[in-house]
Amino acid sequence: FQISLPENEPVKGYLPGSPEKAALKAELKRQLAEPVEVPVIIGGKEIRTASKAPIICPHDHQKLLGQYYIAGEQELLEAIEAAEAAKAEWENMPWEHRATIFLKAADLLTKKYRAKLAASCMLGQSKNAYQAEIDVICELADFLRFNAYYVQEIYKQQPNNSDGVWNRIEYRALDGFVAAITPFNFTAIGGNLSTAPAMAGNTVLWKPSSTAVLSNYYFMQILIEAGLPAGVINFLPCRGVDFGKTVISHPQMAGFHFTGSTGVFNGIWNQVGQNIDQYVTYPRLVGETGGKDFIFAHASADIEALTCAMVLGAFEYQGQKCSAASRAYIPESLWGKVKARLEAETGKIKMGDVCDFTNLVNAVIDRNSFNKIQSYIEFARESKDAEIIIGGKCDDSKGFFVEPTVILAKTPDFKTMVEEIFGPVLTVYVYPDDALEATLTACDTATIYGLTGSVFAQDRAAVIKIAKALEHAAGNFYINDKPTGAVVGQQPFGGSRASGTNDKAGSAINLTRWMSQRAIKETL
Ligand code: GLU
Repeated sequence: FQISLPENEPVKGYLPGSPEKAALKAELKRQLAEPVEVPVIIGGKEIRTASKAPIICPHDHQKLLGQYYIAGEQELLEAIEAAEAAKAEWENMPWEHRATIFLKAADLLTKKYRAKLAASCMLGQSKNAYQAEIDVICELADFLRFNAYYVQEIYKQQPNNSDGVWNRIEYRALDGFVAAITPFNFTAIGGNLSTAPAMAGNTVLWKPSSTAVLSNYYFMQILIEAGLPAGVINFLPCRGVDFGKTVISHPQMAGFHFTGSTGVFNGIWNQVGQNIDQYVTYPRLVGETGGKDFIFAHASADIEALTCAMVLGAFEYQGQKCSAASRAYIPESLWGKVKARLEAETGKIKMGDVCDFTNLVNAVIDRNSFNKIQSYIEFARESKDAEIIIGGKCDDSKGFFVEPTVILAKTPDFKTMVEEIFGPVLTVYVYPDDALEATLTACDTATIYGLTGSVFAQDRAAVIKIAKALEHAAGNFYINDKPTGAVVGQQPFGGSRASGTNDKAGSAINLTRWMSQRAIKETL
């Protein structure tokens, strides 16, 4: 048994007349007509608890896709028991057998359930077909296949022997269970955060985002169909406070895998610190958190490439990517042309229902998010230090729609230049060409984050200079490309500072965080 280096799952085009488009359209129709019930899953059993909530379609908030059941304290305690009961057999199973389950899940996802998963992600999380395809199909399958490969490569690493001494390393699972809290914006992240620790022999308590339960549940069903034993991953839609109290503080919590806001991760880190004497082992804390990602243009930048990156980087999936371009630094000498191209390209963007495949931009995820984004736009509208130059309209009468918006800021520390908005809002600061150094310093120090960033320059010396000056400002750094769209196996993803622990999703480094080694010396 040998897993070769996987190929990335090819992205399907959903072109008019293609079979995948017909299948997807039929599936969208079916899911809109047939509401579903999403249960809690503990120890392989579907549980309908006493508490439930609606699954709302963000582009049409009167449209219910179904409802999901909410785990309470009792169910969370049962899930801990189920994870502990499943652990020994799972951990001791030959790793090839574990890997085979996840490889099979990747094939089910891409071959049998492609339309079902993509449609659930489109309707439940308001993604257009392309955004759903690159997330719940391609990236998720890539995580499963590449992680299985990385586990194999890590397990191969063994120490040297010396005369009369036989050394070996056992790559054990962690001493307890792993908790995963996952976000709405990528189903692939939910899938990765729950399965990566499991690949290494851990059992997992997975709290999916309440606004992504539909696609996350369909993925969970695929894992079960692929043969995942009961209790290895427990699917637990629940309230954050209950998960925190019951799961995060539990003495057996040995690892925590998180993607979400900086504030929530900080809260959990504090909570772990307060409980530190009670854990059986020091919990491994792995988190990918917020971002305020930049595009930095030099006077030698190619204007077409730059403006294309600004539009796609800022507005695809309504800017709801941790990696989304949300601040741009443009030299005065280019601004006139850049502004004209931005207006022209943004003007072509269609916004609306996900079922109309000509819409590039869809709704933002929910009312809280809509209100937050709107309040930032209103702040800019009323400020003397900024001007809204493109978009700025918000309309929640049918769905949660926010127009792609560009704000021009007079200072590099204007509020929308430094705070994470998580919506389709790009703030631009225009700098004098002779103030390159000072603007680089502002870019490096203006925010607390360090996730992604791009430089646009054709002058090689400028590329080198800017890349060096912004060395710590981004864990994923792009030269002449947009700061979104990292591909598993090509650009391992993650940042530092307030953006996370930089344990690179989709890399061997991430997998090692879920392993605890025993080094054995045997004298012959
Ligand atoms: N990996 C995604 C990208 O490169 C972003 C992940 C996130 O939003 O957390 O665009």
